[in-house]
Amino acid sequence: MERNLKIAGVTASPGERAYGVVAVSDLFADGQPLEIPFIIINGREDGPWLYIQVAQHPTEIWGLEGVYRLLSNLDPEELSGAVTFSLPNPLGFRFAQYFVSERAQASYITHDINRVLYGDPNGSLMERIVYAWWVNFVKDKADYVVDIHGVQPKTFVFYEAHGVSPGVPEEVAEKSERMALLFGAEFVMKQVEPYGGGKSFRGACVDHGIPAIVPEVAVGDADVTERGLRNIMVDLGMIEGEVELPEKQYILKWVADPKVSAVRTSKGGCFIPSVKVGDIVEEEDEVGVIYSPRTFEVIETLKAHRGDTSLRCGYIP
Ligand SMILES: [Zn+2]
Repeated sequence: MERNLKIAGVTASPGERAYGVVAVSDLFADGQPLEIPFIIINGREDGPWLYIQVAQHPTEIWGLEGVYRLLSNLDPEELSGAVTFSLPNPLGFRFAQYFVSERAQASYITHDINRVLYGDPNGSLMERIVYAWWVNFVKDKADYVVDIHGVQPKTFVFYEAHGVSPGVPEEVAEKSERMALLFGAEFVMKQVEPYGGGKSFRGACVDHGIPAIVPEVAVGDADVTERGLRNIMVDLGMIEGEVELPEKQYILKWVADPKVSAVRTSKGGCFIPSVKVGDIVEEEDEVGVIYSPRTFEVIETLKAHRGDTSLRCGYIP
């Protein structure tokens, strides 16, 4: 690894913290660039380079506080390797919207910004933004990627099984799984099939041999986020410390077809669950009822269409 780290003209020497922006030129209708802020924390000692981003989907912000806690207290003198962080979609973040209004002159975000792989320098304006993330923060600049998103009501972590990205060595999936478990959420989602609607940014990283995970962080889980990132960095030898994990973690298989993974109703109405998120069910167990808001009669009882035989305990040896 280079000892002086340089991104978009900003250099961080060993033991230094530096700040800057990547400018995506000529982006707005008035000719102004989009500026993507980043932090480089370059450790005193050599080691891996970890890239963390939050709120690529601008409303999914609940991991940010954990990153703040970790990075604001991280001393580059005590760090081996480097951490870079960016807020990759600052315009969406400003307005807390996936698709920013025409008034903000940002209708260039035309569909899911997480489904255009690593972007395209000659593509649409949205693809140019994603390509700016790719070349400035990932390509030849990251050994590991943590792309933090958000979900309710329970934190889990996505990673990709070996074989989903063709031709990628098995150790990439193994390292991704290790990071996913180290993040320390109770549930880990092992993606065993490609997405139907185009590949994610995380998938683009794996395609290029870079282990990557997507923690989906729930509200109130700043502690989980901070501990998870710390665990990953301890395991990679970047900082001193002890790995702390929950007693039990579950790896669930993620498949593309929602019919396989979801219980479905045949009637419209209001749902009352009889299980909590995270409960384990067997086939035919009742999971809830649908009632009519007109008559308050129960119109359908929903049962699990399968037991989850893909379930197993995960652990870090
Ligand atoms: Zn997301």
